Amino acid sequence: MTEQGNARSKPKSRTRRAVLFGGLGVVAAAAVAGRDEISRAWWLMPGVSKPRKEGEIDHAGAGWTAASPANWRMADRPDDYRVDRIVVHVTQGGFQSSVDAFKNPWHKASAHYIVRGDGHVEQMVRELDVAFHAGNRSMNERSVGIEHVGFVDRPKDFTDALYTASARLAAGICRRYDFPADRTHIVGHSEVPGADHTDPGDHWDWDRYIRMVREALAAPA
Ligand SMILES: [Zn+2]
Repeated sequence: MTEQGNARSKPKSRTRRAVLFGGLGVVAAAAVAGRDEISRAWWLMPGVSKPRKEGEIDHAGAGWTAASPANWRMADRPDDYRVDRIVVHVTQGGFQSSVDAFKNPWHKASAHYIVRGDGHVEQMVRELDVAFHAGNRSMNERSVGIEHVGFVDRPKDFTDALYTASARLAAGICRRYDFPADRTHIVGHSEVPGADHTDPGDHWDWDRYIRMVREALAAPA
């Protein structure tokens, strides 16, 4: 077997754990706690501080570009705020202009993730922190915001790859914070109380999306 083959056969869970914990104290903690337990409550363990290393991500496979700190607020979720919502957005612009907007300190908005039509996921704010995406403070505090690259009136922007990548991402969020994949917990920006935005719009296929998130949830993590 080639070296490459060996590398590929590494168990996926190890990769994911490395992504989430990235550091000290984890090996000892992992030795005493089951994996399910640890994925839910590791941050409650004494001596384990939440990792905040530059470039660290919450969704395996995502890219990372830091949003300007002016566009989000540091928090300690889910300890200080319970996370039980996902807010679905559409960027009304291209990928790069959306990334640039969230990097711009004068933009005053950001989302945790941007999903692109080819299935690429870019994370820009840690899930620990509160991104300014919903136009509603309490919704921001309880939710993870997912932007989708495209325009609300251009249904061809909502590709299979975009739905698939976003559904996998959303399923991981439901799993991490233990809430169900339904239309109470996964909402559109336009449905947020007080929102003056129309995204994701009429062409976003909610039935398909929720079904795909549930399928991803049912699949092994
Ligand atoms: Zn929006």
